[in-house]
Amino acid sequence: MDFTRLPHPAPVPGATREQAIADPGFGKVFTDHMVSIDYDADKGGWHSPTLGPREPIALDPAASVLHYAQEIFEGLKAYRLADGTMALFRPDANAARFNRSAERLAMPALPEDVFVEAVRQAVLADKDWFPAVDGGSLYVRPFMFANEAFLGVRPATRYKFLVILSPAGNYFKSGAPAVSVWVSDYTRAAPGGTGAAKCGGNYAASLVPTGEAFARGHDQTVFLDAAERKWIEELGGMNLFFVFDDGTILTPPLRGTILPGITRDSIITLAREQGLTVREEMYSLDQWREDAVSGRLVETFACGTAAVVTAVGKVAGHDGEFTIGSGGPGQLTQTLREKLVGIQRGTVEDTHGWVTRLG
Ligand SMILES: *Cc1c(COP(=O)(O)O)cnc(C)c1O
Repeated sequence: MDFTRLPHPAPVPGATREQAIADPGFGKVFTDHMVSIDYDADKGGWHSPTLGPREPIALDPAASVLHYAQEIFEGLKAYRLADGTMALFRPDANAARFNRSAERLAMPALPEDVFVEAVRQAVLADKDWFPAVDGGSLYVRPFMFANEAFLGVRPATRYKFLVILSPAGNYFKSGAPAVSVWVSDYTRAAPGGTGAAKCGGNYAASLVPTGEAFARGHDQTVFLDAAERKWIEELGGMNLFFVFDDGTILTPPLRGTILPGITRDSIITLAREQGLTVREEMYSLDQWREDAVSGRLVETFACGTAAVVTAVGKVAGHDGEFTIGSGGPGQLTQTLREKLVGIQRGTVEDTHGWVTRLG
């Protein structure tokens, strides 16, 4: 696919840009460009790939995404390696997952090479937007939505795929603190539902429980399974790992109700390579509490692209609270975090071909 390049009439002036990326936080600052590709079933599918200025998009008020939420997204980071080269971490895995999400939401697949090329074009166009701060990156948000004007309920025939970029600082400025999590009574995804798809609708349903967690003074929500309300699934946007005193690690299995995180997969690979036993098994809230109290469980951490690896220090729910280990980040949590961040940043050897250099 050849991308049409539209010149930017008025990029953000250098001084303004430098100010904006000095302390960007997360998801608030956006770059000059975006990539857009349209899909039209009547025109033979995907067409008009364009790299152009980032700008508002016109939508018909009847666009089906606004009514029936046919929308999916991805999230990955572009880094500057120690030697200055720009790189992506496992973009092929995001491309593959994007198409699995598309399938579940009855949306058209986007060829994986087109997905990766779109991300590449966007990052190269905005290479001046990498925050110079330690741990800084360009957060890449590819997404697709139905923009056919039609109120009947069926899969749309027209879609738009966009890639936008947001400079991101170090998620945790002063090292990684341990977070406190709230076990919600609300569920996130039921068997047979869309829990394994990265779709906006899953997030819409998580806002009330997450608000409840914040109101009670916690950082994140833990969701239990919808069928038995017993098994730990994941946080609103991160997968969970449990570390035991015999050195083994457990993470909930991919049963269709949790998101198959690329960070999760990378952590499993790195831990096994280190000789650790990783079990993908169901783990109940009751067992979590019992093991934390007995000391059999020594660490719990959450992982995802945005914050990479985050220790869980405290767990609270309607049945009371418990602390994990000392309440701070554990040893293995820190070791795995450093290893993964090192590979992403080019300071630890990438033996898996996870790092894709750009340009
Ligand atoms: C994106 C996401 C994750 C983490 O996936 P990564 O590929 O590691 O970023 C975990 N849970 C949910 C619900 C997500 O949407």
